[in-house]
Amino acid sequence: MTEDADDIAERKMQFLFALRSKGVTDARVLTAMEKVDRGPFIRGYFTDRAYEDMPLPIACGQTISQPSVVGLMTQALKLTPRDKVLEVGTGSGYQAAILSHLVRRVYTVDRHKRLVTEASAIFQELDLTNITALTADGSFGLPDQAPFDRIIVTAAAEDPPGPLLAQLRIGGIMVVPVGQSDAVQSLIRVTRHETGFDYDELRPVRFVPLVEGLGRDG
Ligand code: SAH
Repeated sequence: MTEDADDIAERKMQFLFALRSKGVTDARVLTAMEKVDRGPFIRGYFTDRAYEDMPLPIACGQTISQPSVVGLMTQALKLTPRDKVLEVGTGSGYQAAILSHLVRRVYTVDRHKRLVTEASAIFQELDLTNITALTADGSFGLPDQAPFDRIIVTAAAEDPPGPLLAQLRIGGIMVVPVGQSDAVQSLIRVTRHETGFDYDELRPVRFVPLVEGLGRDG
């Protein structure tokens, strides 16, 4: 069955309503999320669920995050249009596509080459030319491009990784899920000051773990 324009408008309204009701209230973030269709980022069996507020499986045993969590993390970054942002954990590329509408430059890295290749193809199709996607172990950041105004980590670390803290510009903000287990994780916002770091605990979350080294998918 093909959708007509009314169905698409209705679905979009429900999607935005779900985001707002979960606390995504920043107008710029909502506008960016309205622009990025989540459908193309989900391959395989779950495309019909792309507009529901739930995480879904993608290749390499990973997951595309729940849209409301993507919205809340994006909002927590307090982005400005001049920002250069690093995302650790490209996954499907959905989060990076939203960031690309809000900032000057996005670098996104994933340890799975296949995910980076697939996400890059979508960025090209959508003409999102300010995203650079690379295969790398993001726990070490991206020293060549540092410092970053903002860093978003979309996999759970035991602690905010030291190299990422070091690559945050003074005045910069990093959002990272932190937890010792799969079950109990907190979203943390780290703000770098002249003399150190401030830590805010934002909300409980559940992410796949940040894993060291490159993936074995080639
Ligand atoms: N932001 C993604 C969802 C990320 S899922 C989206 O919008 O779809 C978490 C991702 O983190 C996975 O793709 C996983 O491969 C990646 N990952 C885990 N550990 C990593 C590491 N050390 N370096 C880079 N990527 C990592």
